[in-house]
Amino acid sequence: MSAITLTGARVVDPATGRDETANVVVDGGVVTEVGQGSAGLRLDVDGCVVAPGLVDLHVHLREPGSEDAETIASGTAAAALGGFTAVCPMANTAPVTDHAGVVEQVLRLAREAGHCDTYPVGAVTRGLRGEELAELGTMAALGVRCFSDDGLPVRSARVMRRALTYARTWDAIICNHAEEPTLTEDAEMNEGELSSVLGLAGWPREAEEVMVARDLILAHGLGARLHVPHVSTAGTVDLIRRAKVLGTRVTAEAAPHHFTLTDACVADYDAVYKVNPPLRTMADVDAVRGGLADGTIDAIATDHAPHAPEFKDQEWGQAPCGMLGLETALAVTLTELVRAADDAAGDLTLPQAVAALSTNPARSRDIAGHGGGIEPGAPANLVVFDPAQRWTVDATQLASRSRNSPFAGRELTGKVVHTLLRGRFTVRDGRLAG
Ligand SMILES: [Zn+2]
Repeated sequence: MSAITLTGARVVDPATGRDETANVVVDGGVVTEVGQGSAGLRLDVDGCVVAPGLVDLHVHLREPGSEDAETIASGTAAAALGGFTAVCPMANTAPVTDHAGVVEQVLRLAREAGHCDTYPVGAVTRGLRGEELAELGTMAALGVRCFSDDGLPVRSARVMRRALTYARTWDAIICNHAEEPTLTEDAEMNEGELSSVLGLAGWPREAEEVMVARDLILAHGLGARLHVPHVSTAGTVDLIRRAKVLGTRVTAEAAPHHFTLTDACVADYDAVYKVNPPLRTMADVDAVRGGLADGTIDAIATDHAPHAPEFKDQEWGQAPCGMLGLETALAVTLTELVRAADDAAGDLTLPQAVAALSTNPARSRDIAGHGGGIEPGAPANLVVFDPAQRWTVDATQLASRSRNSPFAGRELTGKVVHTLLRGRFTVRDGRLAG
């Protein structure tokens, strides 16, 4: 592997505070210089941004168990195309990632595919049944830092409290899918005016907020680390904001669809918009944006949830919940939050957006070597993107095995040009590197 010089780009690195035009020289898998120098292959990326590779705290790669929807190879390929160098696959596979064997399998398959690093999330409870704790210790010994039954909540406060207590032993994190299940039986969309009009059972915002409040109280009392996934309501943002003031050890993420789309999308019963937690109202979208802007919500995470067309392309009532996200997250963020190249116009500045997509998620999960620090000696995990390039999402052209993107057909601004994993191209000129 010979040296590469990325010349003339805006280097945005929230970890060091760097935001300037410079050359980035990469050699032997690490950054060797940020400045005026150059060595080896010169790639002119004038007009582009060089940023730390993106880190996704929340993806469903479906392997083992549902390889018709996604595999670790296809999902991590989609991640690399989206500018990610690290992703955290959730544990709701079949078999469930509730013991060391599945963790090892996921790590091995990802390493063989070579597109992206993976940091598997272990299950909190055996078989996601919410009863006995999973083998947290043996998974932690393999480096697992976060446990979640995501897809399902840990409904018992007693089990949640025990999980937080154990996780604290390794200073690990519990991420609970925030949904009080007795409030969401048969729910199909956000509870509100539109759910009454459409005749669909509503999913009240309180179902999320009650669970988040419970978990914040438990985590606070124990001094344990809690991560709140896919924040979807204004009330949840408020709860987390207040908890942070109190010193609760909480981090949170929001998904691109929750800061861009509302329940109005559901009006035509197109199941591509069916997701858990559901699309909410414009007031919630604004609150989530506010939470990202003021740091209440640390990270943007996709909740990438592929479903094979034979399942997702059904009537609303039959279709499963979930949306693709890996190949559109950066562009949706740039288009909707940063508003393209003009930092001043958006909810977030470009450095804030990079922090939410890379630096903050890496830190919140103790992921070393990702999330920035673009300086000599650091692993060259980088994304190069053109913040002004317009493109239209074509769901048939995605690397994912599924095509359930809610952004299909939309024109977005901002496109990944290159992704480098330890100095090696995983994506070059917008295409998966061979
Ligand atoms: Zn979830």
